[in-house]
Amino acid sequence: MVDLKYTPVEEIEKIQATLRNGFRSGRTKNIEYRKYQLLQLAYMLQDNVKRLEEALAADLGRPPLESQFLEIGPSMMDARNAWAGVDKWAKTERAPFSINGFAMRPVIYKEPKGVVLIISPFNYPVWLCMSPLAGAIAAGNAVLLKPSESTPHVSSLFAELIPKYLDPELVAVVNGGVPETTKLLDLPWDHILYTGSGQVGRIVSAAAAKHLTPVSLELGGKSPVFIDPNCDIELAAKRILWGKCVNAGQTCTAPDYVLVPREVQDKFVNALKNSMDNFYPESVATPGVFSRLVTPQAFNRIKGLLDNTKGTIVIGGEMDEATKFIAPTIVKDVPTNDSLMNEEIFGPVLPIVPVKDVEEAIAYVNSNDHPLAVYVFSQDAAYKQKVFSRTQSGSAVANEVVIQPGIEGLPFGGIGPSGSGYHTGKYTFDMFTHLRASLDSPGWLDKILGFRFPPYTDKSIKASQRILKSLPPRPTGPPRTNNAMANGSATKWWGKYFFLAFVLATIGGLTKPVKILGRKFVPKILG
Ligand code: NAD
Repeated sequence: MVDLKYTPVEEIEKIQATLRNGFRSGRTKNIEYRKYQLLQLAYMLQDNVKRLEEALAADLGRPPLESQFLEIGPSMMDARNAWAGVDKWAKTERAPFSINGFAMRPVIYKEPKGVVLIISPFNYPVWLCMSPLAGAIAAGNAVLLKPSESTPHVSSLFAELIPKYLDPELVAVVNGGVPETTKLLDLPWDHILYTGSGQVGRIVSAAAAKHLTPVSLELGGKSPVFIDPNCDIELAAKRILWGKCVNAGQTCTAPDYVLVPREVQDKFVNALKNSMDNFYPESVATPGVFSRLVTPQAFNRIKGLLDNTKGTIVIGGEMDEATKFIAPTIVKDVPTNDSLMNEEIFGPVLPIVPVKDVEEAIAYVNSNDHPLAVYVFSQDAAYKQKVFSRTQSGSAVANEVVIQPGIEGLPFGGIGPSGSGYHTGKYTFDMFTHLRASLDSPGWLDKILGFRFPPYTDKSIKASQRILKSLPPRPTGPPRTNNAMANGSATKWWGKYFFLAFVLATIGGLTKPVKILGRKFVPKILG
């Protein structure tokens, strides 16, 4: 067991001052400098894969495949993709053309916010530090990283490696618990990204409000799974069980509970049993096969939830306090007022809540906080659409669980109590970037906009009205309502794509020259 060295509280202001001087030196304005730091970050991870895997195994008992697939690989790719994307992301943008504004050459500069604070949780201690760090560096900020004290091996490794690979005047690590984080939160920052529980999220928000510091909160919640009785139950069971087992259920996007039509509950349980047998042919308690709970407190909290459940344990239930082991545990016939339904489980326990139908399931989800994810297992487009359009959540995922934060190009974030703000990839860059609006107005423009200067006359009032655009016709009759969610238009987009592909394929496959818009096209096979 490593002894995590906490940063002395009295040094914290000095560390922040160093970062501020580093930022003010202006070297992060240079994109090449940012790219150098990003490559250093990527190589820091690549050079230390083994040590990171060992640290994660020591802190969480995590099997190496999970560490590689869910943390180290994605962190390396986030640094690499930020390196590849930053030239484009940081480019000054011209404002869209507007007849009233174009002469002033309006542009948007992508400027770093300044010195930012990243506070990370224990459950994915590498990815939730490294991915935001990559985005903050790409955006040109100086960064103070506060990893979790609950993962001492990973956090000490960061304290050792980061100063060796990255500019110490631009990236610093503060290790510690509540007193150290409280001190950090007493100071003004240019942005705070907090990932963790809603309870601490409230503390962070209140502290940030004192300095009017902008905050992004990446929180958790109870992410439900809807089961369509006609779905592929074996596939659903396999994926849901995996989502619950990976990192012993300590995943913010883990399926928290399953809403199953009463008549298919037993079929679903049997499918889970099959998957359980396939996943763990040897004992699941074998070291290196299944992650452990992070702390004795986490173990006792989940044990307490299970001790008090009114449901029936149908799989698992084995525990070992000494090693903080809780086997994957499936509980069926769980009522909605159960101990397992009052808080985010964040452990390897899956309650199954039988419901009459999808309407009852939607009503239940809507009577609780908006979760980080809503999962649906169904092959029926109308069923998926019904659930997605009538619920709210950070993400809406069909026939998959957990991995949506790793899909390139998708924003990751919650809504309401599951968080605010978006990260991963360019979204992290955007979070740490100030859009600085700028224009440069020529003197001759006053020939057109001169009406704005006093004395105000009837003529100048009329001139001021001439620059307004006319409104579209007044609406007649009741509004048309359309419940379709954005994914409806995604479907339409794909429809157009396939239509276009069809047209091109037809043209490409023609054996005769064709005339399109007056021009003659001769297919390659003829010409
Ligand atoms: P946590 O809130 O206990 O700890 C996170 C960080 O907050 C740590 O660095 C810790 O030192 C600091 N902290 C703890 N108590 C504090 C206090 N009183 N004052 C100031 N700082 C304090 O969270 P956790 O238990 O490590 O993480 C679990 C939660 O995080 C779950 O709810 C999970 O869903 C959520 N989570 C969300 C995401 C996401 O991206 N949305 C990702 C991972 C985890």
